[in-house]
Amino acid sequence: MEYSVDKEKCIGCGSCNLACPSGMGMGNDGKASVISANEVESCGGVDLCPYDAIVEVTQSNDEEV
Ligand code: SF4
Repeated sequence: MEYSVDKEKCIGCGSCNLACPSGMGMGNDGKASVISANEVESCGGVDLCPYDAIVEVTQSNDEEV
């Protein structure tokens, strides 16, 4: 499973980064971004974000390393 951040919904609270620092990072724009989809998966996936800003990406792209 791949994940991405809906930048419109992300308020930059940082809670995903606190809960899963190896999976989620905070960008210069003050929004979160996915560092490692595998780490996000093991941290709980979309449930990491209480604002529903972390979304599953369903198309089968190549796995990111
Ligand atoms: S928990 Fe959600 S709203 Fe907060 S920084 Fe992460 S993606 Fe953005």
